[in-house]
Amino acid sequence: MLVSKQDPIVFNPILLPAHNPGPMTGRGNNTYLLVGSTGGATLIDAGIGESRHLAAIRQHLSDHRAALDQVLVTHAHPDHASGAPALASAHATARFHKYPWPEADESDVVEWRALNDGDRVLAGTESLIVLHTPGHAPDHVAFWHEASGTVFTGDLIVLGSSVMIHSSGGGDLGQYLASLERIRSLQPRQLLPAHGPAVTSPEAALTAYVNHRLARERQVIDALAAGRDTVESIAESIYDGLDPALMPAARETIRAHLDKLKKEQRAFEEDARWKA
Ligand SMILES: [Zn+2]
Repeated sequence: MLVSKQDPIVFNPILLPAHNPGPMTGRGNNTYLLVGSTGGATLIDAGIGESRHLAAIRQHLSDHRAALDQVLVTHAHPDHASGAPALASAHATARFHKYPWPEADESDVVEWRALNDGDRVLAGTESLIVLHTPGHAPDHVAFWHEASGTVFTGDLIVLGSSVMIHSSGGGDLGQYLASLERIRSLQPRQLLPAHGPAVTSPEAALTAYVNHRLARERQVIDALAAGRDTVESIAESIYDGLDPALMPAARETIRAHLDKLKKEQRAFEEDARWKA
């Protein structure tokens, strides 16, 4: 349940699956519909425009005699943003908001309005605070509903899995870890992610996440110390026996670690050769 007994506010995000299961999305994305008492509704993340997702949104709006006021997108990755045009054609009243990332925003398709860190967005009578939480993507934001202790965390955390940091696509591991710390500092009561189940023990989950990354970082440092000096050889030493289909993702992860160490002047690169 989202509301404790002492808590007078009613805040019931409705989970609507985006119906896009796949290798990169697991069982598919979660989107969340917030229906205000005033007849306006907010959707967090747009999905991909799949017809069952669109139908479920329509049904819930009709059940609540509500109209879709706004769509808040956590970041520009297609599983979160590419459904915007379909939503725009189905809901003429809807406005679309995200944190700007000019290289990725398809501004010719829908008109994106800019979210900024610290903005308060009204969803019905409830306010959500925009938290710029880069690392997985440069434009990544989370939405903080303080009264219920809920954070809509987008792709910051996926229970039972780890989040990809695409260092070649604007990802930054150092920023990502800082974003996790920022969420932890809020002492939230629950996290509602864009993939996987709700996180009901945020402190434990976020701590485990940070510790996992730091353990991986130590492995990378050890591999460098042992004389492994390319992304490929470091990845092979750490992910020995990994399904070859997953090796590109493993190399991307190692690259993200090396980039972080480089920024911290703990590793150096010359002609694609690395040393500690
Ligand atoms: Zn993503």
